[in-house]
Amino acid sequence: MTVRLAIKVDVDTLRGHREGVPNLLRLFDRTGIRASVFFSMGPDNSGKAVRRLLRPGFLTKMCRTKAPSTYGWKTLLYGTLLPAPLIAGPNPQMLRDAVRSGHDCGIHAWDHVKWQDLLPRIPPEELAADFDRACGLFEEIAGRAPRSCAAPGWQVTEASLRMQERKGFLYCSDCRGREPFLPVAEGEALRTVQIPTTLPTLDECLGTPGTTDASLEDAYLTLLRRAPATSAAQDIPEPRTPKDQILHVHTVHAEMEGLSKLALFESFLTACRARGVRFTALDDVARAVELEKLPLCPVEKGTLPGRAGTVALQGDPIVPWMHRLA
Ligand SMILES: [Zn+2]
Repeated sequence: MTVRLAIKVDVDTLRGHREGVPNLLRLFDRTGIRASVFFSMGPDNSGKAVRRLLRPGFLTKMCRTKAPSTYGWKTLLYGTLLPAPLIAGPNPQMLRDAVRSGHDCGIHAWDHVKWQDLLPRIPPEELAADFDRACGLFEEIAGRAPRSCAAPGWQVTEASLRMQERKGFLYCSDCRGREPFLPVAEGEALRTVQIPTTLPTLDECLGTPGTTDASLEDAYLTLLRRAPATSAAQDIPEPRTPKDQILHVHTVHAEMEGLSKLALFESFLTACRARGVRFTALDDVARAVELEKLPLCPVEKGTLPGRAGTVALQGDPIVPWMHRLA
């Protein structure tokens, strides 16, 4: 059985961008891995995430995952007591280096916190304007237009999916799920393939009681051998990938795996290599899929263990009505 693993890096904050990304690029260089990296291009409003204090479970998780030491106190004040600094514009080198090193780079957000916390309430024109700013700055720095994006906090609406669809991207990675699929919005199948994250994130695992750094690596290595599943679905349909092939997508954060959890992450990647796991990047996955063979799935809201609030989940495949008649 071949296990393929795509590493998806989300860059959420200024500190993650300036310190975490260079650390990760060096790590990928050492381990010979080509990753997919998604950049937050505009302001770092991390401090405004205090809004999430009102959500059940958030404070417990912040304490368990030692958020202040992971993100730094300064980061937790951006956009509130401290002004929100711009991330990519004044620090273009990290994105440029990632592109030059051959990584698959795309858009995470203009304003991560705004998207993650307020998406359904952002008027469509404002949403599109923010996204265009992110794409414009990306092109200015990278020397090419973005070909992909990954929604902050796995938050999507039908409006955000349609806005992204108009960009004609190679793929989007906005959801949690089992396998590549075409999303259905307002009853209509979109043409941009969604490649969902299949594994739990490190902060979700740390947010689960009883988990230690030491047990994490083993837990991940076990998960890699299993076909991806969504916890939301009771009746989980089998992924359509051939039985002898498993594709996993692992989302890591520049703020976490690129900083305080760098050694743990390196050890995990080395262990994967030793077990014959093949690394791939999301753009290679997107180029290899046959659109007409992809399942059509709705994008649903659901919860995940260790994560506060809801995220976008790949729903069960929709059987086209003609197939049902046959
Ligand atoms: Zn993010």
